[in-house]
Amino acid sequence: MGRVVVVTGIPGTGKTTVCNELLKLAQGAGRKITAINFGTVMVELSKKDDKSLHRDKLRKSSLSFQRDLQLEAAKMISQKAGDTEGDVIVDTHMSIKTLQGYWAGLPLPVLKLLNPDVFVLVEAEPREVLSRRFRDTTRKRDKVLESEVAEEFLFSRLMAVACSVLTGASVKIVKNPSGKQSEAAKKILKLLW
Ligand code: AMP
Ligand code: MG
Repeated sequence: MGRVVVVTGIPGTGKTTVCNELLKLAQGAGRKITAINFGTVMVELSKKDDKSLHRDKLRKSSLSFQRDLQLEAAKMISQKAGDTEGDVIVDTHMSIKTLQGYWAGLPLPVLKLLNPDVFVLVEAEPREVLSRRFRDTTRKRDKVLESEVAEEFLFSRLMAVACSVLTGASVKIVKNPSGKQSEAAKKILKLLW
């Protein structure tokens, strides 16, 4: 079975852009890598329950609803990863800012299902993150202060430490300054050599 790389980043870090870049690089290098977006799986599952939510509204729903969806999504992803040839990238979040406070994107039951080999934290300067959130009209992202973005980064790192302790997998921090998504993707691809 291939490796499972969990790529995380707070909203506006450009993690999905980096993942897309990674897929292009992998294709060019003749490498089989599949990316699965955790949030997309959750949104699809929410449609089945007839409670379809916009992806940016999910984290504002009740925690019990999110927890159920999260576990269901992890089961689907684990199954897909098992059926997939080559390495799998899971595009997700270490920590989710819910109405109940910070919540783990990868609690123990989810970690057990995904069985990751490495965790990646995609990071950028808080100011850059804010300007990306502001410019991205396709998303309903909260406009917050730079200090709050710094706190989101801190929580992601704290969650990553917990994930590493629980799984024995390593944590790689990959910086994604503007226009450098290809370099960031190369750093992730290196983890898979
Ligand atoms: P994204 O497009 O990566 O920002 O994901 C959209 C939304 O999906 C996030 O804001 C979360 O509400 C949800 N989501 C993604 N990954 C997870 C996860 N591991 N656990 C819980 N919710 C998640
Ligand atoms: Mg994304």
